[in-house]
Amino acid sequence: MSIARAIFQGCALTDKGLSRARNEDSVGLHITPGADAALAVVADGVGGNPGGDIASKLAVEHLLAAAGAGLPQRRLDNWLRQAVLAANHGVRRQQGRNDAHAGMATTIIAMLARGNRIAVAHLGDSRAYRLRGGRLTALTVDHTVAQAMFEEGTYSREDLARSPYQHVLTRGLGLMDTPDCPSLLHVSEVGDQYLLCSDGLNKVLPERDIQRILTRQCSPQEHARALVTEANAAGGPDNITVALLQRTPKAED
Ligand code: CA
Repeated sequence: MSIARAIFQGCALTDKGLSRARNEDSVGLHITPGADAALAVVADGVGGNPGGDIASKLAVEHLLAAAGAGLPQRRLDNWLRQAVLAANHGVRRQQGRNDAHAGMATTIIAMLARGNRIAVAHLGDSRAYRLRGGRLTALTVDHTVAQAMFEEGTYSREDLARSPYQHVLTRGLGLMDTPDCPSLLHVSEVGDQYLLCSDGLNKVLPERDIQRILTRQCSPQEHARALVTEANAAGGPDNITVALLQRTPKAED
């Protein structure tokens, strides 16, 4: 069974922010020549572990190399999960080669789009959102101690927002040999916009502001620039990374 044709456009942008000495985030975007399939990925190197910047870069390189070898026609969620696990394996292998990289780890959020199917896989607290009909919806749940405490009922929603455990990851890329990596399939609609981001965006800009920016009628490039500019205007305390994918309303059969 074939899936409906769809056309994608996108943009990826990363910025050091205003407080950090360097950028430990990495971002990648691969759109096929016919723009009928796309892969986007954001990784946020885990601070406190040496080599977080290297882990995030390696993870993105692995995903882009897999995309360059050809994006799948079907079973997108399975392909994406396997690609993230292969990237995890690559980072684990590099840890063994160099003592300075022994504990390196990164978050990862990856999205694969073809036809009216969108697969999302992630480890850690980098997020995916969808804007549809002017409304922003989170597609991922953070892998953090704070989120786990909320889910088990120890935390209220208010506790969650001010928890010191918001930054403590329960899952990440490079932390173990075979992480439990959720990969979910969504059905996309014409005009949908998808945002992947590191927490330097979503912990600084409230979701209503992200929604306001993405609702403007402009290109993914302009949206990406506006998101980074507003996060910096709000203090830019962390590296800020965004990848945007839009299922365009044009040229679909
Ligand atoms: Ca971060």
